[in-house]
Amino acid sequence: MSRYNLGRYAIQPLRSGFFPALRQRNPQVLWIGCSDSSEGETAALGLDPGEMIVLRNLGNMIIENDLSCVTMLRYAVDHLDVNHIVVCGHYGCGLVKTASNQGLEDPWSSVLDALRCRHSSDLDRLPSPEQDRYMVLLNVMEQARAIRRDISVANAMQKRDLMIHTLLYDRVHDSVGRVVEVGG
Ligand SMILES: [Zn+2]
Repeated sequence: MSRYNLGRYAIQPLRSGFFPALRQRNPQVLWIGCSDSSEGETAALGLDPGEMIVLRNLGNMIIENDLSCVTMLRYAVDHLDVNHIVVCGHYGCGLVKTASNQGLEDPWSSVLDALRCRHSSDLDRLPSPEQDRYMVLLNVMEQARAIRRDISVANAMQKRDLMIHTLLYDRVHDSVGRVVEVGG
């Protein structure tokens, strides 16, 4: 995992078993991953397919007017009563990059443009190999905020133990880390 200065964020390594005792009738995890990632990210945490319901799209994004995203959130939270929502980015992502939005259209591209603009001073300070990795991290945190804004998620978080996890997958080392805010 990253060694560079992450500012207000830190990455804690996760191991298989992070989601314990999930053997229940319904999936307990809503996993939001990227379309160009692999299933290795869930295997690295020891999750069985029956333990999760999976949404994948370009850049693991939650777009509030994307019917597929919204419907999935409501189904998972209101019907399945999942206890965990994971948004998992991955290093080497072909979609979430610092330099351009090649091939992406709105609203996907405008979300990334806004993120780049807002964090340009932090991104500019990083050596270029790390900029794309930091963009992946920033995007994961941004999508977690979008998830919290969803009305079903907000209501559920007030009533029960629903957790949102921000994870990063490193395919080279087959490892998963959790992004946490450390201050600021
Ligand atoms: Zn990707």
